[in-house]
Amino acid sequence: MPPHTIDSPTSGTGTFTASASAGPKSTFGAGSSKTGAKSKGSGRRRKNKEKQVEKKWEIFEPITKKDPYPGMVVVDTKEGVVEAFKKINHYLKPRVKQATREIFVSFGGHNISRDGFLSLIAVTEGNGITYLFDVINLENDLWDNGMREFLEIPYNEKVVFDTREVKDCLTNNHGFIYKGMFDLRIIEVMQRGKVKTYMGLPHEKMEKGGIVKTVVSKTFLFTMDEMFTYYVKPSERENMKYIMETVDEKTWRSRKNGIEKNCKRWMFEYQKFLITVWRCYKFGDLLQDKLWWVSSELYNALYHDKDVRRYDKFEVNNLVPKFVLCVNGTTDQPLGGVRCTKCFRMMPSSEFTDAMIRDRTLCVCTNCVLLASDNFKAPKAGGKPPKKEEEG
Ligand SMILES: [Zn+2]
Repeated sequence: MPPHTIDSPTSGTGTFTASASAGPKSTFGAGSSKTGAKSKGSGRRRKNKEKQVEKKWEIFEPITKKDPYPGMVVVDTKEGVVEAFKKINHYLKPRVKQATREIFVSFGGHNISRDGFLSLIAVTEGNGITYLFDVINLENDLWDNGMREFLEIPYNEKVVFDTREVKDCLTNNHGFIYKGMFDLRIIEVMQRGKVKTYMGLPHEKMEKGGIVKTVVSKTFLFTMDEMFTYYVKPSERENMKYIMETVDEKTWRSRKNGIEKNCKRWMFEYQKFLITVWRCYKFGDLLQDKLWWVSSELYNALYHDKDVRRYDKFEVNNLVPKFVLCVNGTTDQPLGGVRCTKCFRMMPSSEFTDAMIRDRTLCVCTNCVLLASDNFKAPKAGGKPPKKEEEG
């Protein structure tokens, strides 16, 4: 159980706890009234705390007709933003020593990048309450009242899935640098083969010291489709597949009857996907977590400060970037002395042929050579699925 050091919220404003009703509201005043003994609290408050933690996944209760998005709170007023961030920030403060991370963030919009737009941002905090922020209606009321700070803070470790384009959009269209992501797409490749999957992982042949071995492939990052295949329980896939379908530009932008239902559903399923995948992994080893964190940070910084976007395969691809296991704080490789003319990153000269070194305009790193060859194929899922185990 996560060691939340939760001080009760200053006030339990009804509107925000309405759907998940996980908060203790203001009952805590009823017991002992001596202030000062902060974290010990009264027995009664303790109980409340436990209840809160147990209830945190409530948003995943079966969808009912009456309330199709349980635990989701639409935020489309300035006051709402202020109130929501009071609650969200509450979970950010003690995170430094925490072994678990429970702030999940997803972004919805059309062609998200410097050439598209954001429509909605969903944030799920520790109690399982999801705030759905209306970017289009709120604009600066959103950025100025907590969202910018929330996305800028580098240490609050927002759990996301590949937000390279989001960072490009925020830097170039909204003027601030988004940081502090914990990217499940990167974490997956670094843990690949170590956690339970629902289908055999793709293998590839690797030669080391003259011996050819079959190893779990780590050349490619998994697309969302592949993540479903490997990490989402078959019984849960059906609903979540919804996020694979594209919501069109008009629907993302429309606010005729408030936020379109399709958009809400999309965001909801996306959050569900993040939480499902995140629960596959174990966190808590400080060094390892740091490595994941740094890699996530670097991966998501790939586009935002480029002068020109090309959206070609040298930019947008599923290859695992070479820095993923580096911790030197840059997307350039350690000992990098030569720049690749395709991906523009500095690489050690061993990445290039002698001919390339002689004429630097020819320099193409091995990842980019692979991309240029046009015949690279992601290995297929294969082999026997892992031994059947009934999920409890
Ligand atoms: Zn390259």
